[in-house]
Amino acid sequence: MRLYQHRNVPIHHRFGIHPDSDKNRMKNEKSTIIKKIYKQFWILGLGFLLLNCTQEKNKDDVHQNAKPNSQSDYLLPGLDHGLLQSPINILSKEAATGGHTISLNFTGEIDKVENLGHTVQLDLKPGNTITVDRRTFEYKQMHFHTPSEHLIDGITYPMEMHVVNTLKDQQESETTEYLVLAFLVKMGEENTFIAHFIDQIPKEEGEVNEIDLNALTDSKMSNAANLLKELNSYYYYKGSLTTPPHTESVNWLVMKRIFEASPEQILRINEIEGDNARHIQARYERDISE
Ligand SMILES: [Zn+2]
Repeated sequence: MRLYQHRNVPIHHRFGIHPDSDKNRMKNEKSTIIKKIYKQFWILGLGFLLLNCTQEKNKDDVHQNAKPNSQSDYLLPGLDHGLLQSPINILSKEAATGGHTISLNFTGEIDKVENLGHTVQLDLKPGNTITVDRRTFEYKQMHFHTPSEHLIDGITYPMEMHVVNTLKDQQESETTEYLVLAFLVKMGEENTFIAHFIDQIPKEEGEVNEIDLNALTDSKMSNAANLLKELNSYYYYKGSLTTPPHTESVNWLVMKRIFEASPEQILRINEIEGDNARHIQARYERDISE
């Protein structure tokens, strides 16, 4: 296969990028791509090939301590791992009726906002859980991807929010099982949920801002709760983490409803994290249920 034959060729040769000007070139290309996506974000762009991925050092901390490093991701798509990779393009007409039972115990109180360089992460107060088919997952963190990672019927969106949970009471030796809720976001009205914390996002990478809940007019994040009420309408499938090591132990719930955020809000988050969406992966024989 061509990709395989090119494996030993430095990545800048394959993409025609001169190594001395990699950074500037990539920066320029990124901003051009973002502009295009903002203009016509409903069109799937080939720009995904240039988007950054992130590297995860600790499999239990999705995106935590991760540094953008995506070369290996692009060299051998689908060959280094199994057949349950994420994200995917969800074809709505092919989704079967699944009948999953979901219940929530979310207070939605934000504890702190972190700028991890590659993404903005929200940490909630402990004690938030979500139960799917009688299995309980504990909330871990919430973060963003710009543009979206999942596609629905070939459509990409300018942003996607992930709410990451892990299975409760797992043994240390077991592979961590995840439940990730994905919310796709299009440009539109200002998103009040994001507005609550966007001013709290630290300017510098690696900084953490503890949030003074009293400073927020709505410390209970009622809009987060509203978001989660959407859980009765989703696509469910089995997939992987979208950052290395791409562990295939993720239960994905991709919300059917497309949420809105203002262009300024999406740009603000993109300015901090850059383009951090993994390109779509083959679905193979996987089922998607509603
Ligand atoms: Zn994510």
